[in-house]
Amino acid sequence: GLILGIESSCDETAAAVVAGGRRVLSNTIASQVELFRKYGGVVPEIASRKHLELILPVIREAVETAGATLAEIDAIAVTHGPGLVGTLLVGLSAAKALAFGLDKPLIGVNHLQGHIYANFLTEAPPSFPLVCLVVSGGHTDLIYMADHGEMELLGRTLDDAAGEAFDKVARAVGLGYPGGPQVEQLARSGDPEAVPLPRAHTEGPYDFSFSGLKTAVLQYVQRTGPLSDRQRADLAASFQHAVTGALAEKTLKAALDRGVRQVILAGGVAANGALRQAMHAALDPHGIALGYPPPVLCTDNAAMIAAAGYHLWKAGVRHDLDLNAVPGLGLRVKG
Ligand code: ATP
Ligand code: MG
Ligand code: FE
Repeated sequence: GLILGIESSCDETAAAVVAGGRRVLSNTIASQVELFRKYGGVVPEIASRKHLELILPVIREAVETAGATLAEIDAIAVTHGPGLVGTLLVGLSAAKALAFGLDKPLIGVNHLQGHIYANFLTEAPPSFPLVCLVVSGGHTDLIYMADHGEMELLGRTLDDAAGEAFDKVARAVGLGYPGGPQVEQLARSGDPEAVPLPRAHTEGPYDFSFSGLKTAVLQYVQRTGPLSDRQRADLAASFQHAVTGALAEKTLKAALDRGVRQVILAGGVAANGALRQAMHAALDPHGIALGYPPPVLCTDNAAMIAAAGYHLWKAGVRHDLDLNAVPGLGLRVKG
């Protein structure tokens, strides 16, 4: 099974060819991060136009790098939500045109399912049943997976997503967009115990809340006035410590309650070294295995879309050419 994946849900134009849902033959990503740095975030209209310029060259490069031809592709997997409607439509239209022109199956993939399936792009994929923590720019979900395609939502953030909190805190301490990697960098020289911050308490045993924490960071900045380098680093470290601690605590609880031997991380924040450490510290003593993709497969890419598409393709999923972009598409989960 050779799958061409296409992703354009936000500000990465990406295409990839993946064999057997596991082997990444190519993973082309044209990021618009530089373009949006001066705006401090993504401008949807500009992003859509940029995707339009990039989509065909990116697909061509992915197929060429894979050493494949379009004729050899078994199916075309494309993100059809969630994301920005205008940018989603660019990738979706390209995928439809290819599927129609080449007479290949079209498979619409949920972007979040893609993030999860980045974990399967390895020779030793995770084993079911498992608990997956999705931590991205727009989502923070705890999911129980009994098997491929069998998902149950255990909990989620009640307000900000983890990545969103990182981005907002980055701005508060004078760092640019996207903030996650820069907060992580700054936190390396800070003391995680230096600034007392509230723990995110929620009623649901597996739910998260990060807006209180974010507000506490903003108030600290206002109260303290211009921060010294030391204070900025301490604040970044303390914030990161609070976020990763809450994530690890509830993920461990879910894993123990469900009796799983495997936990996986997915989404951009899964690239965070402190989160990986906090998870290991929580799970290792219980002998629960922890998996996460390499950093380049944590943030938006098309290899993950091809990987998720492969399992849908094997399960017989096929979509018609009237498949639409769904900005608010949810995971097909029970619970
Ligand atoms: P979604 O997948 O929910 O639609 P998205 O596609 O914008 O949202 P991702 O690409 O999964 O999100 O991840 C981007 C987010 O991950 C950003 O908020 C970014 O700050 C965060 N992020 C990336 N690297 C790191 C890191 N090393 N530490 C913390 N956060 C990070
Ligand atoms: Mg992005
Ligand atoms: Fe994403």
